[in-house]
Amino acid sequence: MTSEKNIHDSSTHTAATIGKVRPHQTQNEGLVFEKSSPGKRGYKLQPLDVPAVDAAALLGKSYRTQSAELPELSEIEIIRHFTRLSTWNYAIDLGMYPLGSCTMKYNPRVNEFVARIEGLAEAHPYRPDSLSQGILDVVELLQRCLLEITGMDAITLQPAAGAHGEFTGILLVRAWHESQGNARRKVLIPDSAHGTNPATAAICGYQVENLKSNALGGIDLEALARQVDEDTAALMLTNPSTLGVFENEIHKIADILHAKGALLYMDGANMNALVGKVRPGDFGVDVMHLNLHKTFSTPHGGGGPGSGPVACKAFLEPFLPTPVLVQGKDGAKHWNYDRPQSVGRVRAFYGNVGMFIRALAYILANGPDGLRQTTEDAVLNANYIRHKLKGLYDLPYQTPSMHEVVFSDKRQAAQGVKTGDIAKRLIDYGFHPYTVSFPLIVHGALMIEPTESESVEELNLFIDAMRAIAKEVEETPELVKSAPHSTRVSRLDEVQAARKPILRWKPAK
Ligand SMILES: *Cc1c(COP(=O)(O)O)cnc(C)c1O
Repeated sequence: MTSEKNIHDSSTHTAATIGKVRPHQTQNEGLVFEKSSPGKRGYKLQPLDVPAVDAAALLGKSYRTQSAELPELSEIEIIRHFTRLSTWNYAIDLGMYPLGSCTMKYNPRVNEFVARIEGLAEAHPYRPDSLSQGILDVVELLQRCLLEITGMDAITLQPAAGAHGEFTGILLVRAWHESQGNARRKVLIPDSAHGTNPATAAICGYQVENLKSNALGGIDLEALARQVDEDTAALMLTNPSTLGVFENEIHKIADILHAKGALLYMDGANMNALVGKVRPGDFGVDVMHLNLHKTFSTPHGGGGPGSGPVACKAFLEPFLPTPVLVQGKDGAKHWNYDRPQSVGRVRAFYGNVGMFIRALAYILANGPDGLRQTTEDAVLNANYIRHKLKGLYDLPYQTPSMHEVVFSDKRQAAQGVKTGDIAKRLIDYGFHPYTVSFPLIVHGALMIEPTESESVEELNLFIDAMRAIAKEVEETPELVKSAPHSTRVSRLDEVQAARKPILRWKPAK
């Protein structure tokens, strides 16, 4: 049994006490999904006081002759059903979401307020440029801010996510090599990379060549020098890496690549560790993507819209997707489609404009000093967790951590407890799990990224929970192996849940 003190003390958090359920909700009630019963209605219409029309004649074939077989419920039952379901979900608005590599930061309400300003929210992509100068100003200002932050020369905001940005960036690389009359065949990718990197290289038609990390979790310069040749198009590098380790010799890596005519692509999903401190454009990066929905606070997850801008050096600018925003002599902004070397369009219209507004609001609300502070706090928070947990969980890489820290389950594995068990037990303590089993080069990884959003009080609750779980692993490992105990459902068949999800209600026959 865990002591009450260790339990995340918030009424919105799930009670960690085993078997205890919230007073207003029995475990069974939660599990009965089918609530329809014949004849119930959620609405009441007044009797008709005008002549009835012949709907069948009016609608012809579109007239439905059979019932739609929708669930039959009263209004309050529907409201309670959906409200109850919403409370079973975890959210960043409920507590810490330490999902490493995902930068699950809080999305300030001011961003939402600005994104809903009518003139911005209602801007239609078919409205002529001359009547869209306000929203084009937003796009232009965001582009300028992101170029300043990254130290790059040109940018497109079109890609809809990080992986889509990678795809766009590698298309630029390919187009540039081809323009040099020199299509190359392979892309180098370190073994610590996010899975989207090799997928991107492959979908762009490249052979993926793996680069082994050294004992510090970084690139081995000698191995790199041996592997780069005249057939290497680019190295895709995440910096800081998915181990949360900053690549100190990044400029030398760039030099090695450039000497052989290869380019340096930076996966910028981890920019939360760099903004306001260093700029990829200054350390040799040729092209990179950003995840606005990570670093710049726009909502993230649940399949919602993302944004993965791609920034590049001037020599890659001619290849950027069409259209590109330009300013005429009269000062008016307009979209330029006349770009013969462009890789073409990668998305409808101009990208996820709502995300641009949120990101710009975030950047302007923080200002340069605020953004730098954000980076410092994110790194500080990760190192605080590292320091407080390092005696209890194995730390496979001693290299200093940036915005995230990667432990392994080596100590707990002796009791038969794996990283996934610890993550599930964390749910009982009221936290979203950290990232499990990634990066792949750490066996049994626990990848923790608190972001700057968390107060020291919240971090302490998380640390207390992780410590309590380490103790449970020693004393009552079965408790951890069978977790979670406080959720509506416990251990799911994760493969079936992902492969055969039941996503729609069907009437019982
Ligand atoms: C999240 C992430 C990506 C992919 O971004 P999406 O927006 O999810 O497509 C790529 N690389 C790294 C390192 C990431 O953390």
